[in-house]
Amino acid sequence: MCSSSAPSGNPAEPAPSAPPGLRDQHGRVIDYLRVSLTDACNLRCVYCMPASARFQPRELLLTDEELLRLLRLFAELGFRKVRFTGGEPTLRSSLVEIVRATHALPGIGTIGLTTNGVRLAPLARPLRQAGLDAVNISIDSLVEDTFGRITRCGRLADVIAGVRAADHAGLRIKINCVVCRGLNDGGDAVELARLTLKHDWQVRFIEEMPFRKSGRAEQLRPVPPAEVLARIERACGPLELQQDGRLDGEARVYRLPGARGTIGFISPVSNPFCGDCNRLRLTADGELRMCLLRDDEVQLRTLLRSGADDDQLRATIRHAVWLKPWGHGLPEKIHPRNRNMAQIGG
Ligand code: SAM
Repeated sequence: MCSSSAPSGNPAEPAPSAPPGLRDQHGRVIDYLRVSLTDACNLRCVYCMPASARFQPRELLLTDEELLRLLRLFAELGFRKVRFTGGEPTLRSSLVEIVRATHALPGIGTIGLTTNGVRLAPLARPLRQAGLDAVNISIDSLVEDTFGRITRCGRLADVIAGVRAADHAGLRIKINCVVCRGLNDGGDAVELARLTLKHDWQVRFIEEMPFRKSGRAEQLRPVPPAEVLARIERACGPLELQQDGRLDGEARVYRLPGARGTIGFISPVSNPFCGDCNRLRLTADGELRMCLLRDDEVQLRTLLRSGADDDQLRATIRHAVWLKPWGHGLPEKIHPRNRNMAQIGG
């Protein structure tokens, strides 16, 4: 099952001269890179990291120059879509410059950002002007108290200001909500889903994944997307399946009757979409991770700092693509142990 189809969003057509993209050993075209700009975060979401999380020293993180060199090589190898994430990517002071430089790379069609939105309000317009296309903003509840309990320290008003600014700036918007048993598995999903009645956004419900380093893997009781869907339908009426059930990125998409936006369900645990996976992840400390939920990584920072030339780096990236595993190992109880989501770049 290969997927040469474009990832979620609205990617530009690659230039006619652009290379076709690399294939992994399973025949999938791998052309989407998620880049973590830092493992640090200004929130401490309970499903993501422990309250006492410590972050990497700066010298272990890729510098702007190292990062942009790698991004150029990925673009030359046929990567078409880049998403900046973290940690919290808006904590990186050079974010706008990094987006601008990435936008200038021949072959890069779409640039996205995944953020908690806290610092987005003043950044949305400069980011749009620098070439950012789309933003995914995490909001797990529209109830201040619940939002505070999940993020441990967030203010909902800051995030809402970020969403508004992104909308005004003309960025495509998706809202990410991780549904956690006993925290936001009540009416929160319904309130978030109702945002799509008025707004041309996609609100996505994500099944919680078991990262050992999140501190919750052992007692995790994921909320199946079917349960969230049923709750929304009871409150708002039947959801209409979109795109004949084909995935939009990793989400199966529905629409409430008459809604402007859509509702997505992302089910990596109960309904994996590995066969359609077209991505690699570059961690902030320069490891290339072939599967979000498997610990195998290829070290690029050491190679960069040992003076490797572009040919050596390209060969290492090609090899990493080839090694991409077919899928995650959750059914066999293989859980990611070495990093949590913030340390990988979700
Ligand atoms: N700080 C940014 C944010 O909050 O969106 C970007 C990084 S965050 C790690 C990226 C996404 O991963 C968020 O949507 C977050 O909700 C999600 N996430 C983190 N831990 C998760 C887990 N254990 N299971 C599912 N999603 C998770």
